[in-house]
Amino acid sequence: MIDKMKKQQMTYPYILQRMRRKSISLSVTPAGEVLVKAPLRMSEQAIRAFVQKHEGWIQEHLHIAEEQRKKYAEAPAQVRFLGKDCRVQLWQEKQVCLQDGVVYLPEMEDAAKQRAKLTAWYRQQAKELLGRRIEHWAQRMGCSYAKLRISGARKRWGSCTSEGTVSLAWRLMMASPRDVDYVIVHELAHRTHMDHSREFWMLVAKYCPEYETCRRMLKDISQWMHQEGWDL
Ligand SMILES: [Zn+2]
Repeated sequence: MIDKMKKQQMTYPYILQRMRRKSISLSVTPAGEVLVKAPLRMSEQAIRAFVQKHEGWIQEHLHIAEEQRKKYAEAPAQVRFLGKDCRVQLWQEKQVCLQDGVVYLPEMEDAAKQRAKLTAWYRQQAKELLGRRIEHWAQRMGCSYAKLRISGARKRWGSCTSEGTVSLAWRLMMASPRDVDYVIVHELAHRTHMDHSREFWMLVAKYCPEYETCRRMLKDISQWMHQEGWDL
């Protein structure tokens, strides 16, 4: 009797589903539950014996399920887009989508690939939005630029070459629209002054009077990105 009890305790707890079927089957759900589907008339004892016989298999698959849950857990719970925190929701589609303040992210086993997908989406958004904003500001400031490059820079938000190529970091998409505009105004002001002279800052202030606040905000965002691992 004692032996029998011990044996029962050793068996993994499982969920039993009786159904009209000919054979017994075993599976481990993504949540880490052992699921047994058994024919209607199969005895409890036979079912337990079957589960015990496959203990090695169960152990291995419980481990796999746990590893996958850990990886999923690494997907960011929320991301920042244009200064707003957006909840991340995993879904079955292959693309990233932003709707009503929720960022939908493809459910993937590999969290690194998931992050790459998110980064590619940020880049695409940056290309469109920063492209529109720089057009707007170039017109207002009455200056030209040769081309816009979306960069993967970690430490600087933007730069401008003497040939007129403006580079803006896709990470800028995490900053607020006002801060984004400041960076663009800053880089376009370099089309007139290639330094950070008093005249340069006066030109920036003309189009972005609150530029000092923006600079402080961007420093805070840099710090936040570092904490969240976005500068990796
Ligand atoms: Zn500058």
